[in-house]
Amino acid sequence: MSKDTCKDVDAFMSGLIKRNPGEPEFHQAVKEVVESVMPYVRDREEYCRAQILERMTEPDRIVIFRVTWETDDGEIRANRAWRVQFNNAIGPYKGGLRFHPSVNQSVLKFLGFEQTFKNSLTGLPMGGGKGGSNFNPKGKSDREVMRFCQSMMTELHRHIGEHTDVPAGDIGVGPREISYLYGQYKRLENRHTGVLTGKGLAFGGSEIRKEATGYGCMYFCDNMFGNRGDLIEGKTVAVSGSGNVAIYAVEKGIELGAKIVTMSDSGGFIHDPDGIDAEKLAFVKELKEGKRERISKYVERFKNASYHEGERPWSVPVDVAMPCATQNEISPEEARELLKNGVKAVCEGANMPTELEGAHAFVDAGILYGPSKAANAGGVAVSGFEQTQNAERLSWSREKVDEGLKDTMRNIHNKCVEFGEGKDGVNYVKGANVGGFVKVAEAMLAYGAV
Ligand code: NDP
Repeated sequence: MSKDTCKDVDAFMSGLIKRNPGEPEFHQAVKEVVESVMPYVRDREEYCRAQILERMTEPDRIVIFRVTWETDDGEIRANRAWRVQFNNAIGPYKGGLRFHPSVNQSVLKFLGFEQTFKNSLTGLPMGGGKGGSNFNPKGKSDREVMRFCQSMMTELHRHIGEHTDVPAGDIGVGPREISYLYGQYKRLENRHTGVLTGKGLAFGGSEIRKEATGYGCMYFCDNMFGNRGDLIEGKTVAVSGSGNVAIYAVEKGIELGAKIVTMSDSGGFIHDPDGIDAEKLAFVKELKEGKRERISKYVERFKNASYHEGERPWSVPVDVAMPCATQNEISPEEARELLKNGVKAVCEGANMPTELEGAHAFVDAGILYGPSKAANAGGVAVSGFEQTQNAERLSWSREKVDEGLKDTMRNIHNKCVEFGEGKDGVNYVKGANVGGFVKVAEAMLAYGAV
């Protein structure tokens, strides 16, 4: 690495952008990490000599393939799919599969890159990867989704394995999709092994896996408040999304005594000033997990709530914002509005939900800002537990997994404090980035030039 690119964020980024044109999400994710770790790298000559940042921002490999499948009407469809195997310095690649029309190489590279640091933060031996397809499961029949998953796995199975690469779910990939994918893997390989996580409990899945990302995010937020001698209990919270992460963040929030006043989907958000209680959440679960309906139906049932079509929930004054839908769902303007309305904490359930300028505004304001790679690591941590259970051929109790999840989120929080504490308090962005980086960098250095 030349002197400049080892010492100067802009010089490094201009090289990266030149090497990876047209990939704005990837540029954004790298910039956020490099801003934090550059001062750390600058002080260590061996990192510069080993070109650690340039190597870390280059995926080990990307597999791209066509997935051909048939609709119920007998029409042929072809989608594109990817598996980005980003970095396996500290363990087999690990990271979800996303099915959404917006999926492209930039999105999957940003997710795989982030995943590398997140997995390192968990303390478990997992490398970083991500994959998915521009297939849209919305509006498809179960049988169409099954045919797509089977066709996708027919290629993907060559590239994954319990010691190589272990995918899981993400947006658009839940228990139904994981089951179809795993069924096909098993048929092709004739092996029952922990090659996917998020499996059903009947065939090697872990207790608390489906809840883990949302629960973990609330635990992380509670830890951040705890570090300031405060609690999440009694706080008003805006959650976005109504999928896997959002639903279980709300569930844990209710349990911890927070008042959750919003949820959303890509159509708009609902605002329930009375708070979403357990009964209302059961309705949302049935709506989203059972019938795959829209969140707007909430206001037909609960008359005090309002629906705001085409809007996001960040204009509602709250103590805590918890984005749990997708990337870049908090714009710089929305970040400033949250701050103006007195937000005390932003805790990210989704991956990179805040645009970079908004993230800077949260850090500068000194609020509790838990970035995704720390705050939403609970999902992959319990996936790691699922791999261990599969290897042991045992199933852990709900209590044991939940204890492990709580411990992991506390440890991640403490690592952020260790690497992010300064005279103005804890910078969790810096803490998560440097804390995740160090272990991967040390492993890469130890391997030499590979
Ligand atoms: P789901 O598919 O279960 O739910 C996604 C939710 O977000 C839905 O309510 C969806 O609305 C909404 N959403 C998705 N895309 C958009 C968009 N472009 N604009 C507005 N709303 C959108 O996904 P998950 O809950 O699993 O994932 C949510 C986020 O959490 C993602 O960023 C994911 O990467 C991250 N994450 C997930 C983990 C997991 O364990 N599942 C682990 C760590 C991070 P609609 O139904 O209308 O599309």
